[in-house]
Amino acid sequence: MPQNEFDFENRIVAPESINGDSDIEFSLRPKTLREYIGQPKAKENLSIYIQAAQGRDEPLDHVLLYGPPGLGKTTLAGIIANEMNVNIRITSGPAIERPGDLAALLTNLNENDILFIDEIHRLSRAVEEVLYPAMEDYSLDIIIGKGPSARSIRIDLPKFTLVGATTRAGQLTAPLRDRFGVLLRLELYSPEELCTIILRSAEVFGISCEYEGAMELARRSRGTPRIANRLLKRVRDFAQVIGDGIITRDIADRALSRLEIDSLGLDSIDRRMLNAIITNYGGGPVGLETLAAAIGEEAVTLEDVYEPYLMQIGFLSRTPRGRCVTISACQHLGVSVPDSIKPEEAEQLTLNY
Ligand code: ADP
Repeated sequence: MPQNEFDFENRIVAPESINGDSDIEFSLRPKTLREYIGQPKAKENLSIYIQAAQGRDEPLDHVLLYGPPGLGKTTLAGIIANEMNVNIRITSGPAIERPGDLAALLTNLNENDILFIDEIHRLSRAVEEVLYPAMEDYSLDIIIGKGPSARSIRIDLPKFTLVGATTRAGQLTAPLRDRFGVLLRLELYSPEELCTIILRSAEVFGISCEYEGAMELARRSRGTPRIANRLLKRVRDFAQVIGDGIITRDIADRALSRLEIDSLGLDSIDRRMLNAIITNYGGGPVGLETLAAAIGEEAVTLEDVYEPYLMQIGFLSRTPRGRCVTISACQHLGVSVPDSIKPEEAEQLTLNY
């Protein structure tokens, strides 16, 4: 990745896990569907599938969870295991390097257990091929020996549930995608849902947080629980030092302004990216690759990490010819609207926040 003035790694509003998150995330993960806030559609469907599987005394069908990072895919996998009363083994696509690694994981599962594979789109083709018969027939085909004397033997596996998580469902191969019985898409959370999550986290950590303070954090958390929890942790320090320990709306506002997170949760990287489209490309359209090169970030990261929220709040639109900023984005940034931005295009985008 090219080096430039953007500090991607220490981004406070990064939806992926960063240093210091893991200690808080473990204790904050809800354990039951009831405790899991938001995602009503996914939750409702899942609850029905879980009850049906339990009624038949069978493992749950394989589940694919997809959506931007930090929305609760790993959390949901843990909840499924808890609700089904089975064990969960957690791994990720890049961690399973060889087919033998996957075979070892699968043969160590107990009946009805859950195997959670995060970033499942990053499995190698060779590993994926081991997964097909495992998912379909609960069996493994293993080749023993080499050359003409090689023979294939079939090993039966315990019945298990594969829960796959990905930020990019489109990158999954069709044979893999087709083997999932349940596909659940996670959406960005509303400020109200995030507020409930923040108040719950504050209670878990014994932080005093007023409703208005939590709401201010929620509005600036980019629809993402991971960011909401991280901001809560940072703002708590401000409340302790510049206030009397209670997170009020005023403290949240002052703390987040100092952290350069604006009223909609945009940080300097978002603002510079939007400004780059406006000043260098007349507001767009600009191709994804060109934009990525201009700000020194990878195109996939732009697509997975930056764009979902900017599109959700109606600041960026994807057109067949490239990315365009909208009138609302220009207004928010306080810059004049480039002539190339057509008002009628912008009108179609509603400001959700
Ligand atoms: P993902 O796997 O999608 O990247 P995680 O499951 O690791 O996201 O969630 C990140 C953090 O957000 C965790 O600390 C988790 O407790 C919290 N979280 C996510 N979804 C919810 C939810 N619906 N309710 C409460 N907390 C949540």
